[in-house]
Amino acid sequence: MLDFDDIIGHQRIKDRLIAEAASKRPRHAYIFDGTEGVGRQSTALAFARLLNCEEGGSKACKKCGSCVRIAEGYDLDVITVQREKRDITVDVIREQINQKIVFAPHLSRYKVFIMPEADKMNVAAQNALLKTLEEPPEYALFILITSNCGRLLPTVLSRCAVIKFDPLPMDAVRAYLAKETALSSDEANIYALYSRGSIEKAMELQSSESFKELRRYTKDICSRLLNADLIEVFEIAEGTKQYKDNYQDITGMIRSYFRDALIWATTRDMKHIINADNVEFIKNLADRLGVRVLLLLNEELTDMEKSMRTNGDFQLLCEELFLKMKEK
Ligand SMILES: [Zn+2]
Repeated sequence: MLDFDDIIGHQRIKDRLIAEAASKRPRHAYIFDGTEGVGRQSTALAFARLLNCEEGGSKACKKCGSCVRIAEGYDLDVITVQREKRDITVDVIREQINQKIVFAPHLSRYKVFIMPEADKMNVAAQNALLKTLEEPPEYALFILITSNCGRLLPTVLSRCAVIKFDPLPMDAVRAYLAKETALSSDEANIYALYSRGSIEKAMELQSSESFKELRRYTKDICSRLLNADLIEVFEIAEGTKQYKDNYQDITGMIRSYFRDALIWATTRDMKHIINADNVEFIKNLADRLGVRVLLLLNEELTDMEKSMRTNGDFQLLCEELFLKMKEK
């Protein structure tokens, strides 16, 4: 994926970068900020390729020396900064950027530095980079890729054009899965839903056994809760604590079951059901809980997710949720 045409979504960003490349006066430094797997890295490479294409059109030609070198990953003028430790240290900035930037590009118009996970730069590294960002040579261009650009120093941020990458729409992820995998359309729906707008995450999930296991587990506890007495409710809640690191997956799955049950309860139509592989279970949930409780549970889940973001106790919150399931 090295061309803008191959990148899914982000039309506004692509239009902007194509226009800036065409202006021949792009900014010296960009920050591509957004969730992992939404296309920041591919966009960075596509932008580098377009900027350095010898044909200089509004699309990279794919044939010139520069286009070919970038595609094959050995272009000396497009440098992806590598990190060896947990943090990006000042040595990385010195060796991979500051020492190289003094030499003009070998063969291309721009020397492009792409830095994945740039928000892992420690303060010393950021200060070392800042010096370069303050007075970059004409040919230098930086693309810092971040998932939380708020971790960068304000002085670094102010030198860069910050471009925000939104999660992809569910339809776009679904279309990608349908095209690139052998999943059925029901399955593609399910993985698109849990991908939270990231193609990378969707691809990871569809090959993940632990995700399938988690889905079975979530369905199983929902089924058991329908018939559980109070003691069992607490037992089931206790069992959830081992999954507290995956709480978003669990709450997301429970929400999708409740949502489907609500759709079935109100429309008696399975057309818009996400968990189409669990139709009988959905019908049962709908019949046993009813519209009023399902609506209540939905609100409860939203509160629960809010509490989890501020370090809530997953087991306790599950207990509260599960007890609401028993309300009539
Ligand atoms: Zn070209």
